[in-house]
Amino acid sequence: MKNEKTIHIIGAGVSGLAAAITLNRAGYKATVLESSDQVGGRLKTDHVDGQIFDHGFQVLLESYPAVDEFLSLQQLDVTRFSPGSYIFNEGKKSKLGDASRDRSFLMPTVLSGVGSLKDKWKVFSLSRKLKQKSLQDIFAAPETTTQKYLEDYGFSTKIIEQFFRPFYAGIFLESELSTSSRMFEFIFKMFAVGAATLPKGGIQSVAQQMSEGLSDDQLRLNAQVQEVVGETITLQDDSTLQSDFTIIAAAAGNIVPNLPKDDIKWKKTTNVYFKTDHDGFGEPIIGLVANKQSLINNFHFMHDVYSGHEKVLSVTVVGDHGLDDDQLASRLREELKKEVDIKVGEPLKVYHVNKALPDLESVNYSMPATETQLTENIYLAGDILSNGSLNAAILNGKAAAQAVISKIEDGVLM
Ligand SMILES: Cc1cc2nc3c(=O)[nH]c(=O)nc-3n(C[C@H](O)[C@H](O)[C@H](O)COP(=O)(O)OP(=O)(O)OC[C@H]3O[C@@H](n4cnc5c(N)ncnc54)[C@H](O)[C@@H]3O)c2cc1C
Repeated sequence: MKNEKTIHIIGAGVSGLAAAITLNRAGYKATVLESSDQVGGRLKTDHVDGQIFDHGFQVLLESYPAVDEFLSLQQLDVTRFSPGSYIFNEGKKSKLGDASRDRSFLMPTVLSGVGSLKDKWKVFSLSRKLKQKSLQDIFAAPETTTQKYLEDYGFSTKIIEQFFRPFYAGIFLESELSTSSRMFEFIFKMFAVGAATLPKGGIQSVAQQMSEGLSDDQLRLNAQVQEVVGETITLQDDSTLQSDFTIIAAAAGNIVPNLPKDDIKWKKTTNVYFKTDHDGFGEPIIGLVANKQSLINNFHFMHDVYSGHEKVLSVTVVGDHGLDDDQLASRLREELKKEVDIKVGEPLKVYHVNKALPDLESVNYSMPATETQLTENIYLAGDILSNGSLNAAILNGKAAAQAVISKIEDGVLM
C-alpha cells in the first residue's frame, strides 16, 4: 500500500464498496465504516432453509457499464430473465418482449392485443434509436416526465397503460411515470442490450462479491457514524477517529453539521412472498398486472429463477397502500386469483422497503470526480447524487475515490 494517509468510507453499500475497491486498486487502503452488521445497504437477502428472500425485488442489469468494471457475473452465477413479460389485463394474458434478443417473443408480441402494430413498430424503432444513442447524450437531453416522453413519441394510450406503465412503475417505484425521461431512455437502452439478472445467492451477493477484495481490517461493521467534522469522525459510542479523507457513501445530511438534514424524498415498495402450488411459467419471466386499481404491480416465481427453490411467488407492490400485513396478504391473494388466476397460500415474508429509491427531480448519469468534494477532507458518493440505480451508486463510489487519489497525488482535483 502506497500511502500514509488515513482514508475512511462511510457506508458499505455498493457505492462505498466501489470507493474502497478503487482505492485498493490504486494502492491506497481505506477503512469502511458500516452502521449495520452486514455489507450491501439496500441490497439485502435473507436465506431461510436454502430459500432466497430479497428485501424488495431488484435486478442487476448486465449491460450496466459498472458491471464490467466491478463485478463478475460468472462468479455471481446469475440467472437471466427472459427479455419480456407476461401482461395480465382484464383476464387476458399476453406475452410481449424483445424479439431481437429472443426469437420466441416474435409471434406472441406481434399478435398480442397490447397496443397496435404501429406501437410495436415504434417500440422497435425506439430500441434501435437508443442502442445508438450514447449515455452521455441520454443524460444531456432535456428532461421531461416519462409519461410525456411516451406521449410525445406517439405511443397509444393503450400500450402506455398496458405495458409501459406497469413495466416502468415496477422499475421507478412510482406509477405516475413522473420519473425523468433521461432515466426512461437509460433503462430502456440497458434492457435493449442486455438481460436483467439475479445472482444465485440473491441480490445481496453483488455487494458480498465486491467486499471479497477487501481485507478484514478494511471493514468495520456495527460502526455507526454520528458526525464528521473536518478530520474527525465521531462514532455513535462517542469514540473518535482521525481521517485525512472521508468519503460519505450514505445520506450526508444526517452526518455533516451545517448541511441540510436528510431531506431526500424516498420511493417505497412492499415485497410479499407467498407459498404456492403453481408450477411457474417454466422460464424466469416477469408477470405484470395492467389494472391500475390493482395493488400488484409485478410478480415472478422464485422456482423459475432458482432451480431447486420451493414453490414461492414474489409479489411487488409499488408505493403506499396503508394496509397492515394481514390485510395486504388477503388483498393480494384475492387479486392474484382474480387478475392472474394464481392461487397462493400463506405469506412467507413481507418486506416493507420505505427507502428504496431516491425521488429525484433531475437525474445525471454519475458524478464527475471533480464534483464529489464537499469540503477539504470530505467527499460524497452514493446513488442519491445521480439516479437510483446500482450503476450510479457504483460509479459515484469510484468517482469519489478517484477524487481522493488525485488530491493525494497531485494536491489538486483532476
Ligand atoms: C426495493 C429496491 C429495488 C431496487 N431496484 C433496483 C433495480 O432493479 N436496479 C438497480 O440498478 N437498482 C435498484 N435499486 C437501487 C439500488 O439498490 C441502489 O441504487 C443502491 O443499492 C444504492 O447503493 P448505495 O451504496 O448508494 O446506498 P445504500 O445501499 O443505501 O448504502 C448506504 C450504506 O450506508 C450505511 N450507513 C448509512 N448511514 C450510516 C452511518 N451514519 N454510519 C455508517 N454507515 C451508515 C447504510 O447502512 C448502508 O449500508 C433498488 C433498490 C431497492 C431498495
